[in-house]
Amino acid sequence: MKTEEFSRFKSITGNKYGWIDNEYVYLPIYNIQTENYKGEVYNLEIEEDNSYTCEFATVHNCWTPWFSVFGSMSGFDSLEECFGAYAKNIFAIETGLSSDPPMNWRLSKLDNISLISNSDSHSLQRIGREANVFDTELSYKAIMDAIKSRDPKKFLYTIEFFPEEGKYHFDGHRVCNIVYPPEETKKHKGICPVCGKPLTVGVVNRVDALADRPENYTDPRRVPYKNLVTLDSIIGEALDVGKAAKSVMKEYEKLIKAFKSEFNVLLNAPVKEIALASSAEIAEGVERMRNGKLTIEPGFDGEYGIIKIFSDEEKKNIAKQSSLF
Ligand SMILES: [Zn+2]
Repeated sequence: MKTEEFSRFKSITGNKYGWIDNEYVYLPIYNIQTENYKGEVYNLEIEEDNSYTCEFATVHNCWTPWFSVFGSMSGFDSLEECFGAYAKNIFAIETGLSSDPPMNWRLSKLDNISLISNSDSHSLQRIGREANVFDTELSYKAIMDAIKSRDPKKFLYTIEFFPEEGKYHFDGHRVCNIVYPPEETKKHKGICPVCGKPLTVGVVNRVDALADRPENYTDPRRVPYKNLVTLDSIIGEALDVGKAAKSVMKEYEKLIKAFKSEFNVLLNAPVKEIALASSAEIAEGVERMRNGKLTIEPGFDGEYGIIKIFSDEEKKNIAKQSSLF
């Protein structure tokens, strides 16, 4: 890692285990083994979103429409179909933003597969919006073992988007402004009533098609999970402005200063202390998120879902109150 080719990259970490710059996380290849193989080879990269495979897992976006592993046009309905004899080497899949663990639990053929939640590393603010929480030694081997064994003392939980917020939860056409739950898509035979072309089939629909268990199926033996909304979205909702607004950043920085990390604010910080460090509305927003008390217009065809934590009426009241001071 310290060779000349790499030294031109500015790193904010030591280069021993890999490094991070403004856009990417770089990790070394630890081991390469060769095996004779005859047959087709796939690059699972697709437009805009990518699916990647590595040593042990389909590491990203398994359910993204069209051509990801479980996408509607991939031609595969299982890991075995996709990877053939090599499927036995895959012991984890990444659930993507638009699906969460319970949706995957509905497929009994994934019972022995670990479900992990990774983040895109192409933009710094988005790192960590989904994550895996381990209690292990900080080494490649220990983390791999935790994923493989699903030992609840080591693989504690995953952090997930609310799947409705993901870009491919429901079916639809963005340009035609059509968004459908699976039942509605079925009624229209998968065809967009505006342009007459096939609708982009979202993750709920694909899970429904491949699942052999009912909705709301749970399994206490699986690694637990927590759904979170990113802090900038919560602050934006509380202030009734877009999450990129300057006023959002100001509150965000106050909270990070007070509680050290975004995860700590979202997961652990006492609501009363959040109110003291920022405002009662932001604290209320965090509490509602923790209790899943929010509504989400589901994402579809590349459009993120829209999170609503406060009703329009409540927002009016908040605006009135803040204008009093
Ligand atoms: Zn259309």
